[in-house]
Amino acid sequence: MKKKAIIIGSGLAGIATSIRLANKGIETHIFESNAFPGGKINSKSKDGYRFDQGPSILTCPEYIEELYKLCGEDFGTFKMAKLKSSFKYFFDDGLEVLLKHDRESIVKEISTKLDENPKQIEKYLDKAESNYKLIAPLFIEKSLHRWKKLIGKKLIKALINIPKYRLFKTMHQENTSFFKNKRTAQVFNRFAIYNGSHPYHAPAMLNMISHLEINIGPYLPKGGMIQLIESLVDLAKKQGVKFHFNEKVKKINVNKNKIIGISTEKNEYYSDFVISNMDVSLTYEKLLPNSKHPKKTLAQERSSSAIVFYWGIDRSFDKLDVHNMIFSDEDKEEFDSVFYKKKIFEKPSIYIYISSKIVKNDAPDGCENWFVLINAPINNGQNWDDEIKVKREFIIQKMNKLLKSDIRTNIKFEEILDPRKIENIHNSKFGSIYGNASNSRFSAFNRHPNYSKKIKGLYFVGVSVHPGGGIPLALCSAKIATECIVEDYNL
Ligand SMILES: Cc1cc2nc3c(=O)[nH]c(=O)nc-3n(C[C@H](O)[C@H](O)[C@H](O)COP(=O)(O)OP(=O)(O)OC[C@H]3O[C@@H](n4cnc5c(N)ncnc54)[C@H](O)[C@@H]3O)c2cc1C
Repeated sequence: MKKKAIIIGSGLAGIATSIRLANKGIETHIFESNAFPGGKINSKSKDGYRFDQGPSILTCPEYIEELYKLCGEDFGTFKMAKLKSSFKYFFDDGLEVLLKHDRESIVKEISTKLDENPKQIEKYLDKAESNYKLIAPLFIEKSLHRWKKLIGKKLIKALINIPKYRLFKTMHQENTSFFKNKRTAQVFNRFAIYNGSHPYHAPAMLNMISHLEINIGPYLPKGGMIQLIESLVDLAKKQGVKFHFNEKVKKINVNKNKIIGISTEKNEYYSDFVISNMDVSLTYEKLLPNSKHPKKTLAQERSSSAIVFYWGIDRSFDKLDVHNMIFSDEDKEEFDSVFYKKKIFEKPSIYIYISSKIVKNDAPDGCENWFVLINAPINNGQNWDDEIKVKREFIIQKMNKLLKSDIRTNIKFEEILDPRKIENIHNSKFGSIYGNASNSRFSAFNRHPNYSKKIKGLYFVGVSVHPGGGIPLALCSAKIATECIVEDYNL
């Protein structure tokens, strides 16, 4: 008889898992509490403006391509473009650094604008690439909890290279040992935020993330980031996956430590496996209240959150690129404030993403859709409404100075996302964006595995479990969990 799988949540990892399972001939159902798929990857359109509400930076499209190949579909139909420049950085004294996507111009820009030795920049970027190539196939694309799968030449090579990863250094320590200008270090420290971490505590190994954005370059789907979800939902439906929207899962049903199905607000459903794309802590707390919880694993520090202003702007600004970072001068203080004081920094760095620079339909002619993000701590009951008022004013003042204009009058549409909403809409514990932070060298090893050691038939995917936060890793979690199911049930 056909095996049946139930996936809790239609986030990216849930959808990717559904494609893989249905492709194996398993009857696959996704139950989603919201009316829409994609979880944090969603989109809003109003008054001629369209906004990607969650992720804006797409790297590692090869993991999406893998899903197309698996289903025998043409990845060429997933239209996307590599951006001509990855990021534009703005510093307080007026210095601007634009990183294009070819190595020669990147080295020239950093060496001339930030006064670095070109050889050091080359060495740094080469190292990021070689570390990524050694680490990813083993520690990102595989389960860290099934060691037999890792053993082989690749593991030996990765282990021999351990000194290169600078396990005892932090990202910031390594960046300041490579570069003499503290601003160059700040540019490379930025990659800690790819998984919501603090670069003064996150291990230097995470510096390899810069390889994905600087050496390879970020992509943008032709229809904006939401295209990722629309395309994968189509792919899932073609594989026979059944989506059940507006149906929140209330309980995972277990008998003698074996999965028997779920209960939702509407009904009870039988299944052989349950794969939770819901935050792992909340899965235990809310859906498995009577099971033993892995307390140490679940008590780890959470990643940061964010406040995002979605602004429909009635004109365009040539000074801005697709991805812009307007840096605060006080890098460490900003991260300390978010992680330790649990407050948004007084003068935070501002990230602005404008998809309409490329996707022309995302704003009316001559206008722009600004996605303006500042890093925020997780929600522990701060007065967010006051914070939003104060920070909105700060951003407007700062942008007015930068653009020599009064942007207040240009804001024709506004919507705001804050940690409370991230917690409530996406059921993400404390509103953290990326599950656990990577603020210790053991973080990677302390994440929850992609399967339950206690309950047969229970698996986990998404940012709160191995291998961690962000689109590429969520896609890898789907692959790993599916491999575990295939192995456990000889499928
Ligand atoms: C503002 C913002 C910016 C980001 N920027 C980037 C970026 O630039 N690049 C990048 O790679 N990543 C970025 N991310 C992170 C990225 O969105 C996630 O890594 C990615 O979407 C994977 O999410 P996920 O699959 O773990 O689950 P989620 O998107 O969290 O989805 C979980 C799903 O489960 C559903 N659910 C939860 N509980 C239940 C229940 N009981 N019953 C039924 N359904 C349930 C939720 O409704 C949700 O749909 C950003 C996120 C945010 C919020």
